Amino acid sequence: MNAPLQPDLAARAARQAEVVAALGAVAPPHILLWQPEEVTPYECDGLSAYRRKPLVVVLPETEAQVAAVLKACHKLNVPVVARGAGTGLSGGALPNEDGVLLALARFNRIKRIDPIARTATVECGVRNLAISEAAAPHGLFYAPDPSSQIACTIGGNIAENSGGVHCLKYGLTVHNVLQVRGYTVEGEPLTIGGLACDCPGPDLLAAVIGSEGMLMVVTEVTVKLLPKPVLARCIMASFDDLRKAGDAVAAIIAAGIIPAGLEMMDQPMTVAAEAFVHAGYDLEAKAILLCESDGTPEEVEEEIGRMTEVLSRCGATKLKCSESEAERLRFWSGRKNAFPATGRISPDYYCMDGTIPRKRVADMLEAIQGMESKYGLRCVNVFHAGDGNLHPLILFDANQPGELHRAEEFGAEILETSVAMGGTVTGEHGVGFEKINAMCVQFSPEEREQFFAFRRAFDPGETLNPGKQIPTHARCAEYGKMHVRGGLLPFPNLPRF
Ligand SMILES: Cc1cc2nc3c(=O)[nH]c(=O)nc-3n(C[C@H](O)[C@H](O)[C@H](O)COP(=O)(O)OP(=O)(O)OC[C@H]3O[C@@H](n4cnc5c(N)ncnc54)[C@H](O)[C@@H]3O)c2cc1C
Repeated sequence: MNAPLQPDLAARAARQAEVVAALGAVAPPHILLWQPEEVTPYECDGLSAYRRKPLVVVLPETEAQVAAVLKACHKLNVPVVARGAGTGLSGGALPNEDGVLLALARFNRIKRIDPIARTATVECGVRNLAISEAAAPHGLFYAPDPSSQIACTIGGNIAENSGGVHCLKYGLTVHNVLQVRGYTVEGEPLTIGGLACDCPGPDLLAAVIGSEGMLMVVTEVTVKLLPKPVLARCIMASFDDLRKAGDAVAAIIAAGIIPAGLEMMDQPMTVAAEAFVHAGYDLEAKAILLCESDGTPEEVEEEIGRMTEVLSRCGATKLKCSESEAERLRFWSGRKNAFPATGRISPDYYCMDGTIPRKRVADMLEAIQGMESKYGLRCVNVFHAGDGNLHPLILFDANQPGELHRAEEFGAEILETSVAMGGTVTGEHGVGFEKINAMCVQFSPEEREQFFAFRRAFDPGETLNPGKQIPTHARCAEYGKMHVRGGLLPFPNLPRF
């Protein structure tokens, strides 16, 4: 005979049986998973430090199933978390233990490429890179290019307002999407945006893009496609000093140049990347910049000349410009593989994602060096430098007692420093579960209440991806109690407990 379950486990099992029965009444059995070994692969996203098993995983294949599952969950007040490819780095797709995980990877059809309108209409589970691959025969591409583009889905990109190397020139996801279709928390169809340049009513598209799966479940997206540039060339610039490299980034933009990509890596990062992909990086340099120009051959030649002049003036010790497409891709291969390269030099790493004014890049790198000593952990740095978007990768070993906690504290201090430098706690990876405390540092109680009010307009019961992105006042009070910095207690008027 089986031993009796603990009371809370018994309650969970009863709730699970109730939810499985309700979903089984509206969805075929082969799309429902609830055995522990079936739901374990879904217990985390790319932020694997945090894991929770959902009650049930649903793998819908049709929009009717999405609607039916949402209606059933709404009736039972069950939290629902949408999931694309699970590459998110802020725990946005972390399931709720009392909830349903709606895994949308089967929505992977490209419905329409319209070369005349220069649009692609795709299902939410289509991979980012697959859109450009489908558009390539028409000489078109989809510009936002997260480094995870081989795997991440357009649904996840919408939820996170994802960026990438080419977003400095071509804009983020929010600038490249025309329309999203999907379902409300009640399972009602909803279309936001439109296929024309403008559409009637308030423009809610920018609110939905970046809303981290808290306003609606997106099932279909129409994106803009751009003509593929005739030519692209990339300069690799070496610097013997971090500050000179940081200043060169600001100088390029100040000269009125908007490169197709402007990325920075510090020496520990180039060493790790070079060992992994042999990109040809200058390992003597304290930092390298990758500066790309694209357009017609004449435009590229002119811009490469101007960037070379600015980089030389800012003290670059070496400049190498790609002479072929193969060489350009080789320069980028190290940058695009920076995260997996880091995975080779440390058992675990924690990727932060703050944004600062680009003229503060060198100040931030110096501050991070100080934090390395303070927390006894190493950090390698890669930046979307042109956007001032930092990706410090804090190296730790989760098997060493206390190291994960120190990495979290290190990350929190980087985000707080970003805010102090006039930046933000997010860049392109979203707030999710990971950065929810940092939101307390950046936003006042009144601002956070407005965020909640806006969310409730879509989801009054707050059951779509609850506990993410917007911290409650109680959570901020608790965080403030734990984090007294410089002798100052944030939000002193809030009750502590
Ligand atoms: C190696 C690596 C490199 C990366 N590089 C970049 C980069 O350069 N730029 C960048 O911006 N990000 C980057 N990321 C982060 C990540 O890839 C992006 O955030 C991506 O958009 C997540 O897509 P996904 O399909 O994996 O979404 P998931 O991780 O599955 O989900 C992310 C969020 O989207 C929500 N969501 C997913 N699908 C839907 C839907 N259909 N409807 C409503 N909500 C939905 C989820 O609830 C969750 O909140 C990187 C990640 C890795 C692992």
